[in-house]
Amino acid sequence: MMARSYHMTPAEFRDHGRRMVDWLADYMERVSEMPILPDVKPGEVISQLPSAAPEAPEAFDAVVRDLEEIIMPALTHWQSPGWFAYFPANVSPPAILGELVAAGLGQQGMMWSTSPAATELEQVVLDWLVELLDLPSAWRTAGPGGGVLQMSASDSTHIALVVARGAASGRAGVDSLVAYTSSQAHSSVEKGARIAGYQHLRLVAVDDTYAMRPDALANAMAEDEAAGRTPAFVASTVGTTGTTAVDPVAAIGKVARAHGAWHHVDAAYAGTAMICPEFRHHQEGLDVVDSYVFNPHKWMFTNLDCSAFYVADRTPLLSAMSILAPYLKNPATETGAVIDYRDWHVSLGRRFRALKLWFVLRSYGAEGIRHHIRRHVALARDLADRIRADARFEVIAPVPFSLVCFRHVTGDEATKSLAAAVNATGEVAVTLSDLDGQAFIRVAVGQTYTDQQHVDRLWSLLDSLAPSVPISGASNRAAPA
Ligand code: PLP
Repeated sequence: MMARSYHMTPAEFRDHGRRMVDWLADYMERVSEMPILPDVKPGEVISQLPSAAPEAPEAFDAVVRDLEEIIMPALTHWQSPGWFAYFPANVSPPAILGELVAAGLGQQGMMWSTSPAATELEQVVLDWLVELLDLPSAWRTAGPGGGVLQMSASDSTHIALVVARGAASGRAGVDSLVAYTSSQAHSSVEKGARIAGYQHLRLVAVDDTYAMRPDALANAMAEDEAAGRTPAFVASTVGTTGTTAVDPVAAIGKVARAHGAWHHVDAAYAGTAMICPEFRHHQEGLDVVDSYVFNPHKWMFTNLDCSAFYVADRTPLLSAMSILAPYLKNPATETGAVIDYRDWHVSLGRRFRALKLWFVLRSYGAEGIRHHIRRHVALARDLADRIRADARFEVIAPVPFSLVCFRHVTGDEATKSLAAAVNATGEVAVTLSDLDGQAFIRVAVGQTYTDQQHVDRLWSLLDSLAPSVPISGASNRAAPA
């Protein structure tokens, strides 16, 4: 008798795999009808699962049954077209298939020699994105800079902070280095600065569109220099998390240059919009930028994780990140003619992220992505118009992309209870946030399948659930365009 192999055979894999692809296609068809937010208490999933892994193999059917009965009811359905919360974390069928194939091929692309295809495809898709988003040509692999796929924008920004620290350390001690970003920047800048050992972080003031003020930045830098500290790093944001405000990249870049600081741009969400020429004025000034990140895993229909990080000059990145262990030596690396992406980030092992992005870029084509981005932006602007026209609401920030931020004019209580009420329907999900001490509702129109009908439904829920205001107390101040 043959010893048991315990493996799922290729034939079984084929059967189960087909079934799971069908299962996911059913999910895509049904997700819009599922309550978006799960009705579960903390610990409920744990309480239904055994406390130890099984000793004996279990049938795949049993795994799928528990997937359906235990896992599914406790999911938050980010892939529902009624998803307007946070920013989207989109998937799309080609991205799922790319992820599946990448998993099956199991490449470990730490160096060119360990997966020439994974390395070169990554170069190619990142070069394609330079073209598609109209990024500086110096960021192409053939130029002095280059791109790399990271796990997240937070990782990319952290790496930029580390590289900037290294670049500045020739001029000053680490204790004196200062990092700057706006008061509206994503928390990853602060987190990255803390991990990278910066002792000083300045949150620079913003203007009435919530964009960083270059004059305030220049003043902060001058004050720090006068006090013996060294400006080392500035992060601008194109599309802040709170309101998608756009920092003036060119003006900030000039200030950063004048003080010898590294200039990083975080376009995690809004970067995808640059595939449409009409949004590119928002990224003017990228030629005075040292590093840049945007997340295809937000709005470019590509599964988490997939964050594109670019540097204008790869030399300081490589000197911060590369280290050569004897067992990694190989003839290709020695030629100096290949890219070893392990030298572009912290981790050594790396998965084949480029494959899903390649599947997406080819399946949608640039025109398909443009079509959907424009559709989302148009839907968001239409919603903003409806909100502005209603005396109960106030749009609190410009809508440069597809995020609409508004509040109930009577104040926090009505705003908070409106967000809770629309979320309680299970049909849509929005995010409650606050700005300048006032609560507001964020509606991010950007889920892969969000269309007119979903925005209409959101509007009808807002309309029917929002309390009215006394006629005399009504105000509907327009936000700056
Ligand atoms: N930067 C901005 C502007 C963001 O909006 C976000 C997330 O929403 C991030 C960074 C963090 O992205 P990640 O989850 O990839 O670290």
